[in-house]
Amino acid sequence: MKYLTVWKILFLMLTLLTVSGAKHTVILKGKVYRHAGATARELGCGYYFSGKNFYLARGKENFSFRAERADFRISNVSVAGSFPSRKVGNHLYLSAVDVDTILRPFFATRQSLRRHTLRRIIIDPGHGGFDRGAAGKRIVEKTVVLKIARRVAEILKRCGYACFLTRRSDYLVPLNQRCIIANRNKGDLFVSLHCNASKDKRATGIETYCLTPAGASSTNQKKILYTTFKGNAMNSNNFLLAYEIQRALLQRTKGHDRGVRHSRFAVLRNLNMPGVLVEMGFVSNDAEERKLATPLYQEQIARAIAVGIINYHRKIYNSKR
Ligand SMILES: [Zn+2]
Repeated sequence: MKYLTVWKILFLMLTLLTVSGAKHTVILKGKVYRHAGATARELGCGYYFSGKNFYLARGKENFSFRAERADFRISNVSVAGSFPSRKVGNHLYLSAVDVDTILRPFFATRQSLRRHTLRRIIIDPGHGGFDRGAAGKRIVEKTVVLKIARRVAEILKRCGYACFLTRRSDYLVPLNQRCIIANRNKGDLFVSLHCNASKDKRATGIETYCLTPAGASSTNQKKILYTTFKGNAMNSNNFLLAYEIQRALLQRTKGHDRGVRHSRFAVLRNLNMPGVLVEMGFVSNDAEERKLATPLYQEQIARAIAVGIINYHRKIYNSKR
């Protein structure tokens, strides 16, 4: 018994020494950062590295990152972090914003997400009327997004959900009205559908946006904004929803992964339910536009979005941690 106590104390001292070798929380250039290894332990993950990549892994899922970079990956889906990781001596740190709005929603879903009711889903086909959105040679965005939105709604209805479209035909709904419509119709979830376009005709792929957390900058922007919008109350849910939709879209379409990203889109700012915006592909790229024009591909996308929503729903209720 005595020996056991001695061993226990020794073990405790050893653990304390290892942890205190690096601080769990540090302030770097005015931002709060958390020790990656300590965060891994806290989330019940293993922590290891391979080449230049560092991994936090649990079961089949893993989060990977590189030193001084903000392009993360979660189980092969790209995720844009708010701030690059930092290396201090031999220790790596991740920004507290990224730990709280990306890692915790993913690895500690039960603890960090709101288990809200999910019955009524608002599907928001972008643009409409004189606002055609992006235009390719064959298709215009406003028409494709409406077609896909109708299919997503039909599929979800068959799965027992109630769906509401922010527009049912070809007319313009102003951006700020879309949040108001969603809130007024008591939606439990909001998904805005768009197509992309770029001057670079080679650009292709799928990206899913969630609202940028307060105190962070949007993806590909430097400006940090400290304003908190109504939609920020659901940061963790927003992220997991974006992640599940992006993952399902990549699995089903085999499209190029442009990642889960952050933006302060007007349609996401004032929602009082979790919401995301999906950019389903580039109409400015010849091959991708050709695919987007086919009913088969539109069906694949619609099914993937529905699957993403259902997976999100399952996760918020079934996660053990
Ligand atoms: Zn658009």
